[in-house]
Amino acid sequence: MKITKIDIHPISIPYIPERVFTVSYGAIDSVMNVIVKIHTDEGIVGLGEAAPVFPFNGESQESCMAFLSRFAPKLIGMNPMALTSILELLDTVYGNLAAKTAIDFALYDIIGKATKQPIYNLLGGLRKDKVPIHMTVPIKTPKEMAQEATKRVEEGFRTIEMKLGRVGAAVDADLEVERIKSVRDAVGSGVLLIADANTGWAPHTAISIIRKIEQYDVFIEQPTKGIAGLAEVKRSVSAAIVADESCSTPEDTVEILRRDAADMISVKPAKMGGLYKTSRIIAIAESAGLPYRYDGMESTRLTCTASLHMAMATAKDVAGGFSQYTRQQKDIVKKGGLILEKGVASVQDLDAPGIGVELDDSFLGTPVTFS
Ligand SMILES: [Mg+2]
Repeated sequence: MKITKIDIHPISIPYIPERVFTVSYGAIDSVMNVIVKIHTDEGIVGLGEAAPVFPFNGESQESCMAFLSRFAPKLIGMNPMALTSILELLDTVYGNLAAKTAIDFALYDIIGKATKQPIYNLLGGLRKDKVPIHMTVPIKTPKEMAQEATKRVEEGFRTIEMKLGRVGAAVDADLEVERIKSVRDAVGSGVLLIADANTGWAPHTAISIIRKIEQYDVFIEQPTKGIAGLAEVKRSVSAAIVADESCSTPEDTVEILRRDAADMISVKPAKMGGLYKTSRIIAIAESAGLPYRYDGMESTRLTCTASLHMAMATAKDVAGGFSQYTRQQKDIVKKGGLILEKGVASVQDLDAPGIGVELDDSFLGTPVTFS
């Protein structure tokens, strides 16, 4: 089999106004992503998505279009089953993990369709067909966050992630403490609560805030910037610290272990360069006894579904975050893929090969095409 053509489509989908997503970096009101279609001489088409979040990883729709346009001509004529050779070629350029993810997803989709296997079977086989999902509450007033968290728990979610922090401006530490207290009081003790500051606290602020909320049984995600900062915070508090922005590569994972910088890592195929690289990070984490949780970037239901396949092939019980698509005004997936019911995700058709989704092409922007 040979790759014959690659289409690179920009996509832009606004969020539902009441679901505008305010995090430490500011308000996110749309996804500006890239959809890749890799065509083969056997008529199989693989689908992938790049889901860049500029303040998170420095990638954007423009940078992903540029990276993918640079590499697409080199992939024409290559065998799409040669996954690691193609990923190695992409890795001749550093970083660009969101863009690389689009190629990884599309290749897995082709391999799955060619072998008539769903992706979870390419990742070790089905461990569970239902995966609990968390819902994220964006930054608002303590009362509003408590109300929204309560609504999500009533909908069936048993894990709530709440956003905190502020990048590039002063943080009101007392208000952060109040937000955590309000949400914990509202959802009660039976709900797993993750407070994600997305690097938005200085280390000394993080330590001060966390010491005041340790009684509320909260996981603290990426309280501050960098692995050294995480290690400093972790040494000073007893709450569990999760690394997200600081854990995107196998090398990051080794460094986090070496410095004892986190109690858990946030695993996202969309930030880690795709399913293959993520499986290597999971291998390191499992070998070292480092717990992990699944989450996602700002993506469509295509990425949410590809990521769900990975969670279905591993047995972890910590809820995954594959609900980002629910914030968007349009769903680019017209058939198949992830369905969400009462806080639990599954795929519509367990036997569908590859990622198992069909896209509504009318939502895709004009492509740049290489053949
Ligand atoms: Mg996070």
